Amino acid sequence: MDIFLGIDIGGSSIKYGWGNCEEGLQSYQTLVLQRKNRDDFLALVQEMFNNVDSKIGLNNLKGIGMGMPGAIDKITGLVTTNNPNLPFWVNHHPSELLPENCNIPFAFDNDANLMALAESYTQKKDYVAGVTIGSGIGCGIIIEGRIYHGAYGFAGELGHICVVDKGLRCNCGKNGCLEAYASGEGLRRRLALKNPCYAEMDLPAILAIKETDTLVGDYIKQGQLMLTAALSGLATCLDPEIIIIGGGAMDLGLYCIWELKEEIIKKLPAAHSTHLKVTKAINGNKAGVLGAIKLIEDKFNSN
Ligand SMILES: [Zn+2]
Repeated sequence: MDIFLGIDIGGSSIKYGWGNCEEGLQSYQTLVLQRKNRDDFLALVQEMFNNVDSKIGLNNLKGIGMGMPGAIDKITGLVTTNNPNLPFWVNHHPSELLPENCNIPFAFDNDANLMALAESYTQKKDYVAGVTIGSGIGCGIIIEGRIYHGAYGFAGELGHICVVDKGLRCNCGKNGCLEAYASGEGLRRRLALKNPCYAEMDLPAILAIKETDTLVGDYIKQGQLMLTAALSGLATCLDPEIIIIGGGAMDLGLYCIWELKEEIIKKLPAAHSTHLKVTKAINGNKAGVLGAIKLIEDKFNSN
């Protein structure tokens, strides 16, 4: 049996596991990044590879797949100059994280792309828009079972489409992005701008009062309208079979999947609304690792 290592690098943790698509994960673990700086990050990556080597042996791996936040330039493979989740990992190549003299076949991609790839495989759909709603908004587009990267590698940046002219500042440096309004962190920041008392609250605390606090309820509703307008636009252009929505803020209950579905379908042209499915992601926090494994497996299958 071929064993692949899947690594999902996030802003606050590294998730990893090994196995293959057909038989699933044999192991899955999370290492938490205690302090967000480059040295601690590199030490955690090293710890992960040491763990894998001691448990299964790096030489027994057929391939390694890796996902990380940030837009990855298709030509150079470098993570571009704006990576709010890993600010210390910019203009670097993901392969720099591999152990020295590592000759194991390697593939990498953006984490939202890998979430979409994993869901495409698990839900057996070849035309997928996969969306993650957490502190930011990520999106991966799958066409004919493969990740669509666009001309330069930056396709699917749904969180950074402009929804409000001269609107709130976004992590990417621009103003009025969807992410600044409809993500978990966007909601929190918006509320804090209105009243500092919200600045002390984390997302679960904010969501706990969404039924009783009018401002919270209104801002969530506004975010939902912007999100569904963006997603129905995406579906109208791409004609996917399914929009799959996941991410930490969704798991906490920021939006209800049935309401999202209803609003997206309502905004679609008739031809699209007949077919489009909208569902919740089913791989949870393992999606990135599974997608990374699928990515490297596909590399072998296409050769
Ligand atoms: Zn932005």
